[in-house]
Amino acid sequence: MFNAISVDLEDWYHICGIDDASVQSKWRRYSVRLENNVEKLLRLFEQHNVHATFFTVGIIAENAPRLIKKIADAGHELASHGFAHRRIFDMGPEEFERDLVRSKAAIEKAAGMKILGYRAPEWSLKKSNLWALEILKKHGFAYDASAVPLTHLGGRYFGLYPHETKTKYGGIIEFPLSTFRCFWERLPFSGGLPMRINPYFYILSITRKINRLGHPVIFYLHPWEFDSEHEKIELPINRKFMHYCNIRSAEKKINLLLERLEFSTVENVLGLNKSDKHKHVLPIKHDKCYDTHYFKSVLPVSLLILSIYAIMFATAVLAGEYAFLVIILFATIFYWPWGLLFNKINTLFHKNYI
Ligand SMILES: [Zn+2]
Repeated sequence: MFNAISVDLEDWYHICGIDDASVQSKWRRYSVRLENNVEKLLRLFEQHNVHATFFTVGIIAENAPRLIKKIADAGHELASHGFAHRRIFDMGPEEFERDLVRSKAAIEKAAGMKILGYRAPEWSLKKSNLWALEILKKHGFAYDASAVPLTHLGGRYFGLYPHETKTKYGGIIEFPLSTFRCFWERLPFSGGLPMRINPYFYILSITRKINRLGHPVIFYLHPWEFDSEHEKIELPINRKFMHYCNIRSAEKKINLLLERLEFSTVENVLGLNKSDKHKHVLPIKHDKCYDTHYFKSVLPVSLLILSIYAIMFATAVLAGEYAFLVIILFATIFYWPWGLLFNKINTLFHKNYI
């Protein structure tokens, strides 16, 4: 089973909702960092014999066409990530269409190939802006990878796995962000902050579980996650956490996943690639899931859970407040150690629980 691997080709300062002119004036100087980080990614993919989809910000294609050509020549798929990295809900239909057409033209000109896919900046496809899918199909896009089936991001009405959505111009495939179930909510795990804070063994076992049910997982990376030394922008604390937390772990985790799972471009995974040029060759991967890296990543998690329980138990006994245990347990219920535990318990009763 092939999983899709994608890169949001943007730089560290392409953060939605930050309109800092002093930052934007430095964009050209900073683009030097982007090229180095993309080189790192290209070497990594080459080493693992993997082709990826690069959802590219149109401005980058206009400013650095040689970089885009290099990515295309290495056999990777190019797709659109908007022209100016603006969220769909920050634009009306006309503005979105202009931004999309401009990004498509810039990327196709630089890459010398037709593009089929789109991913909205910050997963900004919602029920209120599904008109975006009509516009995508109108301009020849075959798939969209912007939907997130979560209550507070995207929406629960989106399907969990790739499916076709009808528009007046014909069907368009939606490849939603992969998630797993944690009680009544679902949680992401395959890119960005969720991948950086989830332990490696957990990402691997959830992916294998989804694959066993016959569905591919979509992974996503950012070039700036391979460059922990880049300059940091002053951001509100929640966004700072989202962008910079555990940034050093991204490269190691993706390396291990590339060694153990089969990956290809989104168009290949969706069966949209009609030419033989970029068809994947089945790489030889490690069959064993339970190796030293797996157990090394299980160990700290188990120790963490055990020590938290030991501290809670000791505190509750010393204070004689047993309700304390229940409060802490429920207050942290969405955090992964508990998500993991309950997921395991549910698996015992429901074979296809994911
Ligand atoms: Zn982005």
